[in-house]
Amino acid sequence: MYIDPHVHMVSRTTDDYARMAVAGCVAITEPAFWAGYDRSSAQGFHDYFRQLTDSEPRRAAAYGIRHHAWICINPKEAEDHGFAREVMGLIPEFLQRPNVLGIGEIGLNRNSRTELAVFEEHLELAAKFDTLVLVHTPHLEDKRKGTRLILDAIRNQGKLKPGRVLIDHVEEHTVRSVLDAGFWAGMTLYPDTKCTAARAVDIIEMHGTERLWINSAGDWGHSDPLAVPKAAAVMRARGHAADAVRRITLENPRIFLGQSANFSDAPLRPTAADLGR
Ligand SMILES: [Zn+2]
Repeated sequence: MYIDPHVHMVSRTTDDYARMAVAGCVAITEPAFWAGYDRSSAQGFHDYFRQLTDSEPRRAAAYGIRHHAWICINPKEAEDHGFAREVMGLIPEFLQRPNVLGIGEIGLNRNSRTELAVFEEHLELAAKFDTLVLVHTPHLEDKRKGTRLILDAIRNQGKLKPGRVLIDHVEEHTVRSVLDAGFWAGMTLYPDTKCTAARAVDIIEMHGTERLWINSAGDWGHSDPLAVPKAAAVMRARGHAADAVRRITLENPRIFLGQSANFSDAPLRPTAADLGR
């Protein structure tokens, strides 16, 4: 059994759900993010949020996988502050949906001033509604600076407990600052960019298994929705005990996500309605 706590299933085929179920996936969480194109209106986001909270959970349930979602406007589409505020106005309605865990994946992309302002407004929403937060950190050369800006903004906000915030896409040069500040850290496994399975296992060997998880981030680009069970195989091949593998792939996501009453990884039996759609 495992949980993939960050995967963009709206971009994946139903065959991917079937393969994940066979590999032991019992629950997933899907952050709102860029869909590969810019949406032209707030209504486009409203439809996307309905997909994340209505149709996608039913598609997952047909394979016995519990689907959860995070809601936000991603930094890539938040450069127009007025537009971002219009989309943020939709968020409270969706925080009431039964599969929603909180605000995410918010964060920075190009570390711009507007991105930072929109990020801070999302943090206010999370504090107001007392939700969990999932944060995206920028890639490549901006990662260290972006991670520092993000951690400072959360600390300055003052009301969010670090133990209720997960900073995702950490790498060798950012993981320590995230864990030392009391946050959770996620490693995104990608076939060639971001973090490979071998690098993730190196990081586990250097930093331990506390407050750390791995995810596939399977999306519309080159990515692998089976990255989590494949990384578990790499851990076993390198001599890690079964309980360490289970901690990274199941227990840790369960502890962090379980802080939301909307999270569950209890066995899910597909209903006749799910299968007969
Ligand atoms: Zn993502």
